Amino acid sequence: MSTLKPGVVWGEDYQTLLKACKEGQYALPAVNITGTNTINAVLEAAAKNNSDVIVQLSNGGAQFYAGKGMEDSFQAKVLGAVSAAQHVHLLAEHYGVCVILHTDHANKALLPWIDALLDHGEDFFKKNGKPLYSSHMIDLSEEPIEENLAESAARLKRMVPLGMSVEIELGITGGEEDGVGSDDIDSDKLYTEPEDCLRAYEVLSPIGHCSIAASFGNVHGVYKPGNVELRPSILKASQDLVAQTHGLDANPLDLVFHGGSGSEKAKIDESLGYGVFKMNIDTDTQYAFAESVGAYVEANAKAFKHQIDPESGTPYKKQYDPRVWLRAGEQGVMDRLDEAFKDLRSAGKSLADNSQKAKAA
Ligand SMILES: [Zn+2]
Repeated sequence: MSTLKPGVVWGEDYQTLLKACKEGQYALPAVNITGTNTINAVLEAAAKNNSDVIVQLSNGGAQFYAGKGMEDSFQAKVLGAVSAAQHVHLLAEHYGVCVILHTDHANKALLPWIDALLDHGEDFFKKNGKPLYSSHMIDLSEEPIEENLAESAARLKRMVPLGMSVEIELGITGGEEDGVGSDDIDSDKLYTEPEDCLRAYEVLSPIGHCSIAASFGNVHGVYKPGNVELRPSILKASQDLVAQTHGLDANPLDLVFHGGSGSEKAKIDESLGYGVFKMNIDTDTQYAFAESVGAYVEANAKAFKHQIDPESGTPYKKQYDPRVWLRAGEQGVMDRLDEAFKDLRSAGKSLADNSQKAKAA
């Protein structure tokens, strides 16, 4: 088995990691983060599970990272994404796992965000010899397919010299995430046509590496079950069509599972056999953070109302210190990720080579 240097991976190392996932029929969770608390929780959980992992930012997450108070919200989305990536570049290698850095959905209105991140990315590459992000996602699934592919191709051409990949979306993921997507769409669009995957493969793979978020009934967020049905067989049909048309081995496409939160475990498991290497998770880790903080606040209610107990005079400094209750939130995220690493079968499979670190210790 090949090993990789711990830290952010891109280019050839990204391909090595992706191949290991597909050959081993496991996937990495792509966890949407909002600040250093959630980034560190993801890195710590990955290290604890000896799994590689994907740290992902939505445009809203990036804006929050820079600060909701920043007057220019577009600039906040750009600078927040740059700042978060720098945090991960600096710290990831010290957690001893491989980390893919990714941005989440960018629809047509958000293409200027991607273009600005590529400006920063080219600058970063000149200074550091590596890309700022391993991969960006461009989601033009609401546009006609030829426009989707042409716009994605144009960005991929800029990304290739930086050693970057692109993720595109074909068919529509239901639900809404950070202002991208919609609740009222034609349910046929929730299922990608295998012919569209073939077309994407033919347009994009000659330019560079692309992964595909193919819809098979996925929905962002967690809703009452029953409205849509996950059909992983659509992924298999897409893989088979591309493999047969181009005489390739099984599962030639690198597929992404969006809306992993709240999905049936058996459907997650089935999709791992069809070339899925990345599963996005956001809603479930958001809830895990909130649930843990909520439990802490409930158990220490007085410390959130009084600096000193009005009757006994006990100081509550140790209870309201943000490091304590934010840590409870981090712990909640880590517990939920223990489950994700297990569901995706990535636990214990990190490719990171920590022999240098072991020698130093
Ligand atoms: Zn998504």
